[in-house]
Formats: sequence, structure tokens, C-alpha cells
Amino acid sequence: MPTRLAIVRDPRFLLHKTGLTHPESVQRLEAVHHMLDRRFPGRLPRLSPTLAAMEQLQLAHQRPYLLRVLATAGMARGALAEDTPCRGSSYLAAWLAAGGCLAGLERLAAGELDVCLALVRPPGHHALAGSTNGFCILNNLAVAARWAVEGLGYERVLIVDWDVHHGNGLQEILYRDRSVLYFSSHYMGTFPGTGAWDQVGQGPGRGYNLNLELPMQISDQEMVSLYAEVLGRVMRRFRPQLILVAAGFDAIRGDPLGRLRLSPRVFGRLTALLREMGRAHGSPPWLLALEGGYDPEGLAESVGEVVEALFAEPPEAGEPPPASELVASLVQKARAAHAGLGVWV
Ligand SMILES: [Zn+2]
Repeated sequence: MPTRLAIVRDPRFLLHKTGLTHPESVQRLEAVHHMLDRRFPGRLPRLSPTLAAMEQLQLAHQRPYLLRVLATAGMARGALAEDTPCRGSSYLAAWLAAGGCLAGLERLAAGELDVCLALVRPPGHHALAGSTNGFCILNNLAVAARWAVEGLGYERVLIVDWDVHHGNGLQEILYRDRSVLYFSSHYMGTFPGTGAWDQVGQGPGRGYNLNLELPMQISDQEMVSLYAEVLGRVMRRFRPQLILVAAGFDAIRGDPLGRLRLSPRVFGRLTALLREMGRAHGSPPWLLALEGGYDPEGLAESVGEVVEALFAEPPEAGEPPPASELVASLVQKARAAHAGLGVWV
């Protein structure tokens, strides 16, 4: 059966104007829209975002912080953090970004869709419970994960974060939560500085926070092998009922805020791998939400690779390629950090 796919796309995400010299500018999403219209005309049904409700946002955020964001409504010019300027409609874009993810989630939970790609901004994975962080105002996927558990009854939700930066907000908000397993691959020598191997979760969530520190020289092939090894284990042992992807595209060569040298094609390969692993484990629905990616053309090309891989006939599961020494050493580090915990019991 072909994949039932929809995208969340709305011009109101362009209302969050940070200025054209800011890395997280409207040009990012404009480049993605342009690519979609050129490469996939008429092929992507759209879902309209709705505003997230306060009770949903409060599952991940502190109420005083939410009120502080709302107080920026109508401001001519302001800032929610030193690196995150805002205008009078920024709060609206943020509420719609979280709400867009929730709208996709509702359709997935109802069994009407297999995959939803939420092309939202501002991004979310750095936003903390009580503050804006790293261009992120509301933590779109933390809200979606908590709502999936609290509002929709899911018991095991997997978040896969392939943005080059560690999702410190996702980690912080979900650190004690064992119903949501947070899996992140990232480069440590850049913002925000969290995401070490030994940050494995706390209390009941111990073993359910899995960080992979990537070396600068990792190749596309090694990235795919690493995901096959570690995420394969997560899929087998955690058996997620829902997969959320923090889909940042700043790990590619040439991104002004990333340091890695992957190619846009790696995201098509990771998408195909996730599809293949999902099929082997009950085909959980998935929601991908746009996070970083600051080279607009590279971002658009990477999103195109993901969409292409979602439409493609899924490849038959084959033997994984032999892991390189680098991949073997990374898997060993993950295993050492998680020995006796979570998916490595
Ligand atoms: Zn990033």
C-alpha cells in the first residue's frame, strides 16, 4: 500500500520575522516551499495547523513562560533570548508550530495517515521548559510526545533527533520519562554543549535517553550503519508505537552552523532505513518536524530527499553493510554508557 503522507504547510510560519541576516530566517522555509512546488507538484496533501491549547503546552512548558511569550503579541520588535528576536506575530507562528505537530499527530493516531511531515518554524528542540533557547520558542516535539502519552494513550514513543545540534530542550523535558525514549545523534563541539554519552536519563527515565556523539569525519555510509546498529536495537527492544523525528538538516557540508560533512542524500537513506525498520516492527506511524538547517538550498534539497524516500517503494530488508571501525567504536560507547539500562538490559 502506498504511504499515506501529508505535510503541514502554512504561510503563517513566515510571520516569525527574525531578519534576513539571522540564520533562522524566513528564507529557509521559502526555499523548502519552492522545492516542493517544483519537485512534487500536487502530490502532497496539506494539513492546516491549529493553535496548540494551553493544557497541551503545559505538559512541556511552565505556565509563566508561556504567558511571557504571549505578552510579545503585537510588539514592534523584541527578543525572547539574545539569539532569538521576535516580532508581534512570532508568538502566533510558535503556537501554530506546536499546533501543527499536534494536528498531524491526531491524524496519525486516528489511523488516517502513515507519515506526517510538519514543515514548521520556529523550530523546537532547544526550547526549555521555562525559556526560549537556540532560536526555539516552544518545544514542538516535546509537546507532541507528552500529548501522545497523556492525551492519546500511547505508552512508548520514540523521538529520533538527527539535527547536528543536541536537543537539550527535548532531553531536559523528557529526562525522567520512560514512556518517551529520546535518541539523538549530534556533534558536541558546537551549541548547546549537552548530549554526552553518559547523560542517560534519570529516575524512571534512566536508560531512556540515548546520546550519540558524532565525530566530525563521519561519512554518509557510517551514519546509516550507526543508525542501523543502535536504532535497530532501540526498535527491537523498545518497540515504539509512535515515532517522532526531530528533522534538522544542519549536519550537511556547508551548513553555516554545523561542522559535519554529510550530504543531503543521507537523509533519504535514513528515512528509508526508518521505514524498513518500522515495517519490521508493526509499522508505527511517524511525524517528522522541521528543526534546524541553515543553508536554505541544502535544507530544501535534504527535505526533498526525505519526501522522495517516503514515496519510493521500500527496499527489501537486506544484510546491513559491514560496520567500519569508527561505527564499531561508537556502538561500543553507547553500549558502555547504557550497560544494564533501558534497551541494553
Ligand atoms: Zn541544529
